[in-house]
Amino acid sequence: MSLISNILDSIKPSPTLEVAKKAAELKKSGVDIISLGAGEPDFDTPDNIKEAAIKGIRDGATKYTNVDGMMALKEAVQAKFQKENDLYFDLDEIIIGNGAKQVIYNLFVASLNHGDEVIIPAPYWVSYPDMVLLAGGKPVFVNCDINNHFKITQEALEKAISHKTKWIILNSPNNPTGMAYSLEDLESIAELLRKYPNIQIMTDDIYEHIIFDNFKFYNLAQIAPDLKERTFVVNGVSKSYSMTGWRIGYGAGNKGLIKAMTIIQSQSTSNPCSISQIAGIEALTGPQDFIKTNALAFQQKRDLALSILSNINNVENYKPEGAFYLFPECEKLFGFKTPKGSIINNSNDLAKYLLEEGRVAVVPGIAFGMEGYFRISYALSMESIQEACTRIKNACNKLTSG
Ligand code: PMP
Repeated sequence: MSLISNILDSIKPSPTLEVAKKAAELKKSGVDIISLGAGEPDFDTPDNIKEAAIKGIRDGATKYTNVDGMMALKEAVQAKFQKENDLYFDLDEIIIGNGAKQVIYNLFVASLNHGDEVIIPAPYWVSYPDMVLLAGGKPVFVNCDINNHFKITQEALEKAISHKTKWIILNSPNNPTGMAYSLEDLESIAELLRKYPNIQIMTDDIYEHIIFDNFKFYNLAQIAPDLKERTFVVNGVSKSYSMTGWRIGYGAGNKGLIKAMTIIQSQSTSNPCSISQIAGIEALTGPQDFIKTNALAFQQKRDLALSILSNINNVENYKPEGAFYLFPECEKLFGFKTPKGSIINNSNDLAKYLLEEGRVAVVPGIAFGMEGYFRISYALSMESIQEACTRIKNACNKLTSG
């Protein structure tokens, strides 16, 4: 009898591990590597939030809370949805989780039966497919490449729909591309989904507040209220308030689903950390000026990174509306030779080459379900972005086609 469950047969180790491991080895041996792999803001959590948490500890907020989150935090989430997204949820339609990640995982465990299909536009956040698999579902991918501005079209989406489709995932602004759906894009998706009343929609809005150039963020349920009852909204404080380590996410949607997710949470992790919940209340109800300052700083970082990477031969860039990633297309470099004579055959090879020759760690596109690209996170200081992107440019320009 095997010690490890069969379910692990379908779960792959992260393809980012190889480059990360190599980067760690090089760093340890003293090589100056700049890592562009981080999925978190480089700013610290604002002081008012830290202070609220410290006060929470002193005031004794150190005990179990309701499994689905403190009432005051659920009320803060309810008010946030109303104020920022024009969406009203009852308190029993809201759950607080240990990060958006737990909310999404529990959502799939609570709703998927064996073989149920989940449509995942690619490139995607690395965890969606494996969460679906762990919950017994089947991920169905739809390629959304740079030619379509990384957006899903009605036609491509319709082709992926079958009688087994239970969910479609919409992640805007998107990890890894930074693409965000406009009002018109969402209207077009909504139009198609109206033809398929049995499909549920999960929107992952975790990057909602990191948007640029006065882009207006919309949630699908906000622009298509008739779809609200089958939309499950996931969000959290991790990215908006630089609180990745605190682990507070939230979800809102169908009451029955929330109840089922609460049962799963009650038998696995119980409530999210009480002190983090206090911090979450302060994040959502305290001063919000941090959000705009933060987004503006990211916009400047995006512009700097883009200005350098757009000058690389055979590499194409999309100008993102949000998040803190670039996802340059590098397929035209495949077949090119490195100065040492090896051939770049795929995004893994390119990432390895950029690490060895350029001393920058990027994530190969294949990790996000799309070959021919690589991801950089520009959540770094302006100096590091300048240096890292110049290194990428110089290394790419050393590749030869002959
Ligand atoms: N969704 C997306 C698209 C993400 O990029 C991340 C974090 N990398 C998450 C969800 C998870 O967020 P949290 O830290 O709140 O679990």
